[in-house]
Amino acid sequence: MSSVFDDLVGQEHIIDILKSAATASRNGAETQEMTHAWLFTGPPGSGRSSAAIAFAQALICPNNGCGACSDCIAAKTSGHPDVEIIRTEGLSIKVEEIRELLTRVAWAPSLGSWRVVVMEDADRLTESAANALLKAIEEPGTRTVWLLCAPTLHDVLPTIRSRCRHLQLRTPSVAAVTQVLINRDQISPEMAQFAARVSQGHIGRARFLATNETARSNRKVIMQLPTKLGSLASALEAAQTLVDIATEEANTASETRDELEIEKLQEAYGKGTTGRGMATGGSKAVKELEKEQKSRATRMVRDSIDGALLDLATFYRDVMLVQAGSMETLINSDLSDEIEKYAHRTRADSSAKKLDAIMQARAQLAMNTAPLASIEALMCRLAQT
Ligand SMILES: [Zn+2]
Repeated sequence: MSSVFDDLVGQEHIIDILKSAATASRNGAETQEMTHAWLFTGPPGSGRSSAAIAFAQALICPNNGCGACSDCIAAKTSGHPDVEIIRTEGLSIKVEEIRELLTRVAWAPSLGSWRVVVMEDADRLTESAANALLKAIEEPGTRTVWLLCAPTLHDVLPTIRSRCRHLQLRTPSVAAVTQVLINRDQISPEMAQFAARVSQGHIGRARFLATNETARSNRKVIMQLPTKLGSLASALEAAQTLVDIATEEANTASETRDELEIEKLQEAYGKGTTGRGMATGGSKAVKELEKEQKSRATRMVRDSIDGALLDLATFYRDVMLVQAGSMETLINSDLSDEIEKYAHRTRADSSAKKLDAIMQARAQLAMNTAPLASIEALMCRLAQT
């Protein structure tokens, strides 16, 4: 029989725990297996929110998470009255949002034993928001199950994480990701292998690359940048290219979504009719939505630049392997000629420094510095031999 846990790649060690917790939860009481606060951590792409959503489905499904019943389907698409999936579009989750959420989930579950809240970005809680949430988690006899997700344990306040059962997801192996792309997404074996290898276990990124030609050609341009660096002018040009490509990739994804959201909202306020709804509450709501969309767009561009930097890092990692005389397979075996040449004309200690510089640039980017300036500084460092 199929199960919602089938989609979790390389996470066998936590699937057993989640399955037995779901079974134990049937009676609606807290047991050793079943607790009401969980924290899912794992590197980007490991599928921490997929794991949390699968668990939510298993908790409300009459068949332990079959993936096919109306409860399972509704839970996944945010259409279930007892399941709430919180995705953050902005850079932080504010205390007002948590208070609003708490009033929404205050009642007893309408259908089953539990009300489930999946919070995909618990690392973005502001301190006051985290404290408000903490009170809810601490409440005894609660019928709400909290499934929090974050990259690492350190991204969550100690007071919160000490009250959660912690599950650490692993980065799935290249072989496991390849298999999923072939079996689930019907991607050809060669393409699946390429996408899985260069995405380093990030399933979403691998699928995106395997199914999107523009993404593949963008990646090619990014991966050629190191070989073109020399003068200051070339470094500045490379920075501009990287930021442009990443921005465009992010914007294409967000534009379609933005338009749909605005349309839906206008419909809700009765656009096209002569009703007063649009005039009174409507235009204010649209303005608020646009503000939210703007902050989400900023975040998506930042994520996209970060992805390009991770790609670049694999280039220097491969160069270091060649320089060390390692026989390990290159991540970018499609670029082995360029990598060999580059490895021979540069020094091994400078490759390590370049990798380091990329990681520093990523950290800066996360702290809100202007992207282009950080990337320009990075490219200047990468241009040194
Ligand atoms: Zn089901």
